[in-house]
Amino acid sequence: MTTATPTIIRASSLSGYPDCPRRSAARMFRAEIIAAGHDLRDSPRSIGAAVGTAVHKAASVMLIEKAKTGSLPPLSTCHDAAVETVKAEAADGMLYDRETPALNEAQTQVVRMATVYHHDVAPDIQPLIVEERMEADVAPGVVLSGQSDVIAREPGRVRDLKTGKMLGNHKPQLGAYSLLGRSNGIDVTEAGIDFVQRVPLKKPQPGAVSQVHDVAAAETAATNIIRHIQDDLQTFRRGDPVRGVLPGDPWAFPANPSSMLCSAKWCTAFGTTFCREHQEIEEE
Ligand code: SF4
Repeated sequence: MTTATPTIIRASSLSGYPDCPRRSAARMFRAEIIAAGHDLRDSPRSIGAAVGTAVHKAASVMLIEKAKTGSLPPLSTCHDAAVETVKAEAADGMLYDRETPALNEAQTQVVRMATVYHHDVAPDIQPLIVEERMEADVAPGVVLSGQSDVIAREPGRVRDLKTGKMLGNHKPQLGAYSLLGRSNGIDVTEAGIDFVQRVPLKKPQPGAVSQVHDVAAAETAATNIIRHIQDDLQTFRRGDPVRGVLPGDPWAFPANPSSMLCSAKWCTAFGTTFCREHQEIEEE
């Protein structure tokens, strides 16, 4: 099983890979896994992702303007961008949750979150690149691709915006952005996350939390996870007689049914021929 087109590994896939490589593979290599004879579930669009997209849109409006003129645009412009984006995202149906049970609440939420970014984060950024996709070859036929929210001009910083319910570990993703920056001629000396939390409207909107990570440690994490992904994908394509893994065998990718995200809601392999591991836990 080989493929002529390059395999794309997205920087944003790296941080979740160790939690359950098979779940990540089902998203990253969906077409190839289906071509190998497996079925996979469709993943419904979640309101959390839509809110994230909308707040990112507002942030990019701010930073593009600042990169051009040195000043932030008026808040109303950023709010409009966020609200229009979340409405467009929800147009074809949406899976709502406890934090965001309806579209009208999502619209207020993205306005609150964009305001926090405008007030707490954007003034501290001197943007050089805003959401520009960068790519680098990491092995023959394997391309690392990523789009960091902003690389600030001085010092050479990579910063990424997160908007979830909780702040997870995003070091590998930052490391990938740093590797991509360097291979595109940008010297990165600082890597950080700006976290604007999505909370229900009945709670006050928290301010932004910013974290700085060690660039070398983040790059090490990224490099090693990329290597695991490459090895697992090669095993899926070619098999591994030593491990008794045939080409196309789901066990090319280890499975972790103890993952917090092992459910039909979050995993496109759940309940398919590509993963049965959760069933054994249920039967026990
Ligand atoms: S069903 Fe559970 S164990 Fe299997 S791939 Fe999905 S998250 Fe991993």
